[in-house]
Amino acid sequence: MALEAMRNPGFLKTPKYQQQQTRANRVGAHPSILEFSDKMVKRAASLGIPLFPLCIVRTHADQAAEYVQGDSRDDPSDGLWPHRFAAVDLIHGTLGYMDRPVIPHAWDIIGHLGQEVANSMDVKITWGAKFKGLYDPAHFELTGWKDMEPPE
Ligand SMILES: [Zn+2]
Repeated sequence: MALEAMRNPGFLKTPKYQQQQTRANRVGAHPSILEFSDKMVKRAASLGIPLFPLCIVRTHADQAAEYVQGDSRDDPSDGLWPHRFAAVDLIHGTLGYMDRPVIPHAWDIIGHLGQEVANSMDVKITWGAKFKGLYDPAHFELTGWKDMEPPE
């Protein structure tokens, strides 16, 4: 049922869907998170589900603004925030966060796809639905990113 609720093959053919794919800032992102994002979009589309990366890279200024507005709990002053280079927020093309109304198990399916894609790439991805304290199912990040060097 969740799969049916998320499917919208007609929307995949629209200019709006194409525009959504170019919204996120990709500059400075780790190649693996870009590959993950692209493969998630393709894998979902193969099931008739429109997904797009709402956010990949946030600059220091972007992150500081999010923090001040209370939209993110991550103060960038330590130089560490996942969307500096290592995270993507993937949402549905017409249903957004799929929470108005909630589609039961929809995010479980997306999380499962994320695991499949990560396995196929042989990379470790941490899913935001599994965070302690904060349920953030649109968010996927490279596991261990704090110990990684941002790309030049
Ligand atoms: Zn995020």
